[in-house]
Amino acid sequence: MANTVFLSDSQLLITALNNEDPIQASPDYRIRPHLSQITTANKNKGVHYIKIPRTHNSQAHRLARQALNTPPNSSCLYSCFYLGHSSQCPVHHALQSFQWGPISLISVICV
Ligand SMILES: [Zn+2]
Repeated sequence: MANTVFLSDSQLLITALNNEDPIQASPDYRIRPHLSQITTANKNKGVHYIKIPRTHNSQAHRLARQALNTPPNSSCLYSCFYLGHSSQCPVHHALQSFQWGPISLISVICV
């Protein structure tokens, strides 16, 4: 992922990710494994981490809360609202043809 921007409403997360040593910079040990995964996957790829206000992140916040409350192996809720996809939605096709492995999607909306 080159030229990728990660947006988060967590000041703790963004401050740690923008530090030279994100894992040591995190005061909360619980997010250190996640910081390690993020930094390893994006090392030398020109990724930027930017803090945004919680009010600009309400949809993501709602989805994160939904993910925490969704039982494992639940089916994904899919909707397509793009009129040009009335006969075939490429997002739906991509969802069916990709192997998600240990990741499970809870909600996908094509707009
Ligand atoms: Zn669609």
